[in-house]
Amino acid sequence: MSETDDSLECGSCGETVPFDDARRTKTMGGLDPTTWQTLCCPSCGSRLETVFVGE
Ligand SMILES: [Zn+2]
Repeated sequence: MSETDDSLECGSCGETVPFDDARRTKTMGGLDPTTWQTLCCPSCGSRLETVFVGE
């Protein structure tokens, strides 16, 4: 598996969030939580990105 150094920039508070520090939550809208997770800003809780985590 490839490591990622990606970071995400929060549009709400301006924080740069390392990918691994982003909060992972279930997606809104009924996507399978074992396949899709939503990454949220740990500072303000805004949604950053929805990522595919399935195999
Ligand atoms: Zn934020």
